[in-house]
Amino acid sequence: MRALCILGAGLMALTAPLAACATGPGQADIGVAERPNHNPFFESWRDQPYGAPPFDQIRTDHYLPAFERAIAAHAAEIDALVAERAEPTFANTVEAMENAGGLLRLVTGVFYNLASTDGDEAMQAVERTIAPMMARHQSAIYLNTTLFARFDALYQNRANLGLDDEQTRLLSHYHQSFRRAGAALPQDARDRLAAISEEMATLSTGFSQNQLADTAAWTLVLEGEDGLAGLPEGLRAAALATGAQLSQPGRHLITLQRSSVEPFLTFSANRDLREQAFRAWASRGENRNAYDNRDAIVRMLTLRREYANLLGFPSYAHYELDDRMAQTPERALALLDRVWPYARAAALQERDMLQQQIASDGDSFALEAWDWRYYAERVRAAQYDLNEAEIRPYLSLDNMVAGMFDTANRLFGLTFEPTTEVPVYHPDVRAYIVRNRAGALAGLYYFDPFARPTKQSGAWMNSFREQERLAGRTTPVIVNVMNLSPASPGEATLMSWDDADTLFHEFGHALHGLLSDVRYRSLAGANVQRDYVEFPSQILEFYFASDDNLNRFARHYQTGEPMPAELVARIRAAANFNQGFSTVEYMASAFIDMDLHLADPSGLDVGASEAATLARIAMPREIIARHRPSHFGHIFAGGYAAGYYGYMWADVLSADAFEAFKEAGDIWDPATAGRLREFVFSAGNRRDPAEAYRLFRGRDADVSALMRDRGFAE
Ligand SMILES: [Zn+2]
Repeated sequence: MRALCILGAGLMALTAPLAACATGPGQADIGVAERPNHNPFFESWRDQPYGAPPFDQIRTDHYLPAFERAIAAHAAEIDALVAERAEPTFANTVEAMENAGGLLRLVTGVFYNLASTDGDEAMQAVERTIAPMMARHQSAIYLNTTLFARFDALYQNRANLGLDDEQTRLLSHYHQSFRRAGAALPQDARDRLAAISEEMATLSTGFSQNQLADTAAWTLVLEGEDGLAGLPEGLRAAALATGAQLSQPGRHLITLQRSSVEPFLTFSANRDLREQAFRAWASRGENRNAYDNRDAIVRMLTLRREYANLLGFPSYAHYELDDRMAQTPERALALLDRVWPYARAAALQERDMLQQQIASDGDSFALEAWDWRYYAERVRAAQYDLNEAEIRPYLSLDNMVAGMFDTANRLFGLTFEPTTEVPVYHPDVRAYIVRNRAGALAGLYYFDPFARPTKQSGAWMNSFREQERLAGRTTPVIVNVMNLSPASPGEATLMSWDDADTLFHEFGHALHGLLSDVRYRSLAGANVQRDYVEFPSQILEFYFASDDNLNRFARHYQTGEPMPAELVARIRAAANFNQGFSTVEYMASAFIDMDLHLADPSGLDVGASEAATLARIAMPREIIARHRPSHFGHIFAGGYAAGYYGYMWADVLSADAFEAFKEAGDIWDPATAGRLREFVFSAGNRRDPAEAYRLFRGRDADVSALMRDRGFAE
């Protein structure tokens, strides 16, 4: 579906070296703590209520000493493992590895989320410093041949160790991580892999910091009625609130945050301003300024290719896909190729409708990319008697949050109670204690809804602490981050349909973390294959759009009246309109990603490569890729390299899974929900995902459910 997201770096911080996220050039100048003995990271907060990090005590200058001590402590634990004289056993090797690095997990969990949500200069400086440190640390572990030998001995003998399924899965997970990091290779290859990982960490941090800076570097001031033409009252208020937030009180500002620029492009009747805003948005990261990402892209693709070749794979795409549900780039591309003609045909039909609207307005220009959202909105209003401004008052943030909690309660029995007992890292952040059906603590949930200039764009879920039972019962601490435009003080925050859809999507990731019920942290929650991780999130989108949710929670923010049934009916009738557009813009990015990671990058021109991909798929000229390479943080700073197709791969599962509820005649059917919980939401990476899906559904997923859901005629 439409909602796309990145998971924060913390999720990947302690897995294979290349996945680590981090930095740009230059050493940071970071002061030491005033009271070096007091560092909240050095005081256990395991015993704090609900495992809440002491955000109220954490200062930026605590991070570097905390990272240094945590890395040293983890390294010492690894050294002890390496020096172990006793024969390797599951307990003294695999479980010991699993237990090691506790402090580092706490520090990375907090740091990487806050670097993404409140990445001011000082945080960015820390990020640049620790990126290569973390990469070196990871390499030192996963390229250690003595350590690998212990895991390998266990792995080769795994059938005779008396392990249960989850233990076998954990052992395989570690063995695979070592192999994929290059632990089985000769010394010179291992040295080169470590050097690549370190350079990649720096490049990837630089990429995301550039992305943030180039997004923040541009604003559009809307002057007078000419500038505000077409904008509904709610958007004018949001633009005014953005002005106040950016120290320009009284002025209406549009930024390049998606939550600001997309509604502007949808409603602004000022074609010149639309073009200006669209061009700025589309060219983030390629403005020939200090934040231009194109050189870094070429370097990263070159390093990734070399990395994959050293490990025996013909391309980085082959390397990545080897550890995915899709298994090979060919299988991933086969799905994209199957859906593409239908998506493209739908988009071309939509294009003709938009061009007709232009003509019936008495204009004669050809539709351009900056016109699409505006005329799509006009056609939606005309053909389906539906406009977004009519919907927004029914989608207040508070009501939709209540709706998503209700969904979690009806499907899985969870309750969310707001708390002020635990500190939060920003005044906007809300905290909730999560309990299961029996009333027992299930975890802690934070929600950070609003855009800030220091926040990375997009929406994501991250874990401050993951569920496990190995070292005692540990409940998860999960955060959802959004980038909604804040309302003016005292006003309700109103969302677009897509924003509300994204809210449920991200909440699905949160539930994946919160419902996790495994023994081993490395297999917990969202620690699953990249093309499977969007399945739990995307199935929640179906619940957002369900009659039950809309009838009960889509209530007018002023009158409390439910969304009128005839409006719901019009939304349903229009549901497939513009699906061609959103599928095409997404799929273009998926093709670009795969092509970049399949091709030999020698002499690569990023723009030319993008153009060649778009020409090959016959991309409609009025649509651009949802993420162009120069600001494609998913693949250059977010762990989705050669993996952006994964949203569609997982959507095959989510569309097919939701049909299981429909077949049961009830979207809350307890037996189906029970299986969904048992085999998907609580199961983490305990099983192979294809097997887990079969256990839930009784068969493999069928792509036709996705085609039906999007209204693509086969
Ligand atoms: Zn997602």
